[in-house]
Amino acid sequence: MTVKTLNDYELQNKKILVRVDLNVPLNQAKILDSSRIERLVPTVRKIIKEGGRPILISHFGRPKGKYDKLLSLEQLIPELSRFLDCRVKFSTETTGTEALKKVEGLANGEVLLLENTRFNPQEEANELNFSKSLSELGDIFCNDAFSASHRAHASTVGVANFMPNCIGLLMQQELTALKSVLSKPKRPVVAVVGGAKVSTKIDLLSNLIQKVDHLVIGGGMANTFLHAQGNPVGASLCEKDLKGTALNVLKRAYERGCEVHIPHDVIIASDFKPNAKFTVVEAGKVPEGKLILDIGPSTCDKINQIFNKCETLIWNGPMGAFEITPFDKGTNITTTFAAKLTNQNQLISVAGGGDTVSALKNAGIVEDFSYVSLAGGAFLEWMEGKKLPGIACLE
Ligand code: AMP
Repeated sequence: MTVKTLNDYELQNKKILVRVDLNVPLNQAKILDSSRIERLVPTVRKIIKEGGRPILISHFGRPKGKYDKLLSLEQLIPELSRFLDCRVKFSTETTGTEALKKVEGLANGEVLLLENTRFNPQEEANELNFSKSLSELGDIFCNDAFSASHRAHASTVGVANFMPNCIGLLMQQELTALKSVLSKPKRPVVAVVGGAKVSTKIDLLSNLIQKVDHLVIGGGMANTFLHAQGNPVGASLCEKDLKGTALNVLKRAYERGCEVHIPHDVIIASDFKPNAKFTVVEAGKVPEGKLILDIGPSTCDKINQIFNKCETLIWNGPMGAFEITPFDKGTNITTTFAAKLTNQNQLISVAGGGDTVSALKNAGIVEDFSYVSLAGGAFLEWMEGKKLPGIACLE
């Protein structure tokens, strides 16, 4: 099944209701990262250029169906105007009389932003009347929020039932990148999965072992695999109750011909604090009470050798507790090498989900991967092989 794009519609004089993701990180009303705003610019500019009027809808935080001044989208207007380089008007109501009036008053070249969809409890309930009210604000619905498409809400799914619909340029870019690594990738494919826990990534691992040639496991979750194979892990983060699950992943991977790589040396320390004293030990020789906080140098070398013989790389999750130096070293060394191969056109590299973007930013190579998705949950669900409701409803 295919979905329509903006190119399938005549946009002149049309009101385009664009679902964007303005869920940017804030600290005391200061935007910490404007990447999500920056990425919606091409779609909005295209609509304006072709004579259409963009009306932006988005959720912001978790207000639980009630107005919360701290989560009003109005505070993003200056940053939006700056990136879009045009006037951005605001409607304090998401739907209804005020919103309709603002839509009618919108001139060519202007953008309208509607208030946080989640101030209305009907949004997350994907309620029919709210979806209908949203649809009355435009002629065409355009979903450009891949990162919100794993949620079946009124502004991602319900509204699409009531109007012609399509995906925006960012969503198109995201889907192309994701399909390039999982649907028909250039082989061999390597997937790197790190992060804290196996429990949050069982579905991800189960899907990846069916699709990729190499699976590299790092981060805290590697400890569970090391433990399952009978290695001592000291006082490290480890889900000992998931021993059976880990062994089952290894067994199924073997049956599928997917080679799994678990760290054979690790960085250990007594404390998880900046610049803590650390040592490198073989994975089977972690003393009691010590914490495994990163992969070791020899494991880094081995991972880089795997990258060297692969054509495609999928990355989710850091290799160690990267927020604190020196435990970011394993993540930095391996992501930097992947970035180098990408720049030399030897590797297609796609990353996303959870803390991955922060880890790549920390390594200073986020611009060097082929594509870095800003989606968290949606990226993971896609990688788990699940159908995202916000995309399925457009097919
Ligand atoms: P996730 O959101 O599942 O990708 O997990 C990311 C988190 O895993 C980060 O906060 C890392 O600090 C943490 N992490 C990675 N490796 C380790 C480790 N060896 N021990 C403890 N935490 C880790």
